[in-house]
Amino acid sequence: KKEQKALFVIFGGTGDLAQRKLYPALFNLYKRGYLKKHFAVIGTARRPWSNGYYRDVVRSSIDGMVNFQTQIDEFASHFYYQSHNVNDVDHYETLRVLADKLDQDYGLEGNRLYYLAMSPSFFGTICEHLKSQGLTKTAGYNRVIIEKPFGHDYASAKELNDEISKYFPEEATFRIDHYLGKEMIQNIMALRFGNSILSAIWNNKMISNIQVTLSESLGVEERGGYYDTAGALRDMVQNHILQIVALLVMDRPDSYCAKDVRKRKVETFEALKIYSPEEVAQNFVRGQYGEGKDMVAYRDESMIAPDSMTETFVAGKLEVDNCDMAGVPIYIRTGKRLATKATRIDIVFKQDDDSLFGGQGLADNTVTINVEPDTGIDFTLNTKKIGQEFATRQTNIGYRLTEEQVAKVPEAYERLILNALQGNSVNFTHWDELEYSWKFVDAIRNAWDQEDLPVDYFPNYACGTMGPQASDELLAKAGHHWIF
Ligand code: NAP
Repeated sequence: KKEQKALFVIFGGTGDLAQRKLYPALFNLYKRGYLKKHFAVIGTARRPWSNGYYRDVVRSSIDGMVNFQTQIDEFASHFYYQSHNVNDVDHYETLRVLADKLDQDYGLEGNRLYYLAMSPSFFGTICEHLKSQGLTKTAGYNRVIIEKPFGHDYASAKELNDEISKYFPEEATFRIDHYLGKEMIQNIMALRFGNSILSAIWNNKMISNIQVTLSESLGVEERGGYYDTAGALRDMVQNHILQIVALLVMDRPDSYCAKDVRKRKVETFEALKIYSPEEVAQNFVRGQYGEGKDMVAYRDESMIAPDSMTETFVAGKLEVDNCDMAGVPIYIRTGKRLATKATRIDIVFKQDDDSLFGGQGLADNTVTINVEPDTGIDFTLNTKKIGQEFATRQTNIGYRLTEEQVAKVPEAYERLILNALQGNSVNFTHWDELEYSWKFVDAIRNAWDQEDLPVDYFPNYACGTMGPQASDELLAKAGHHWIF
């Protein structure tokens, strides 16, 4: 394991993301030896914390790891707090002086990662001032890590990107999509391109349809203010779901490096059919949860308007016109307050000819990638039913990560931060991918906005179900059904 020497500057260092995800991820990198002596962290936000208080916060964010108390103390000693308002140019001077000092003290070779764990409305300002105040004038690399949401539509995403790219080139910009850091999502490449028994049949001759489900059992929780302006389509489909779809249907990359993988992903997005309003009506379904199972309706949640028309559920059928997958329906589905929390992918293969067995019908052959909470892969096959009669039955062959293996799986943020340290952007979203995915999503959003639904159209599914009936009908009209 190569030690990564770097200074992290975390904007929004007092925030929720930093405490819940970033500090534990950095600690795991420390435990595993990727971060050792030569790293330091500056946490910044407006509130006036001392280094001591900040280190306590960092320590408590990685609590529950009691067996590592000495290591946690050593780790926390690398953290420094600098009160800073991102809009105040002078504050960057203080930040620069501290950054240069830590660079010297810890021997960081001028490598810097700026993690923007705050509202995207500040990204442009931060990048501008980092540059203008000379923070990026170092002998090492200067990279910026950016969180979602990246824009609200194509126009705002482009505006945001134009601002950032004035100061940080594309190869120094790491846009996080944490689904790309998940073990089983990364497994898609291994499965598809490491097994001739799968790569040979991963095409429109053999695949009937593909199903991607990101189902949440939680409601909108305390994110109501943001969520009500976004909705499921922008919050989940534009980023996570389309990224997963690209990995599932893209052609084989020439190599497993960012440049080649991105090339294939961008080709896939280019081939993604953008729908007309009529096609949106045929191919997309939206829903909003009503009460059920002792849970309140979306419109009764805090910070949600009582007549909100925001969708908390989306199902859709996508088409990608690349040659291997042309014509294969790709069904996607995501929603809040669904029956269960699960991320899974079902590849449904075409049925074989059952005439040999007297036309009794055969079960679907499927390959299922269980992303979470189950982690593993399942195949379903038809085998002979035990007994004198000749009949077939569905047999499942499964592989599950053991508890011990699951415990070793790096958390998505840990993996992605390490990738950023290594300058490896294979698991980050390129601007070109964003551009196409927003254009696809905008077409749906615009069609919906023109539709002018009556207020009582929602709610149209109860908490604890798998969404509105129209989601099942979407598949039924093509003779398909949700496997999950
Ligand atoms: P948050 O808890 O509200 O944190 C925002 C941070 O920004 C705080 O540290 C706040 O500290 C700081 N801040 C606000 N205005 C500032 C200013 N003018 N100058 C300097 N610092 C300022 O938000 P979050 O949940 O951590 O989310 C951060 C970003 O990550 C957002 O873009 C969010 O969409 C994204 N994200 C979050 C999650 C998550 O799990 N939380 C997941 C995915 C994406 P002070 O008030 O002390 O200044």
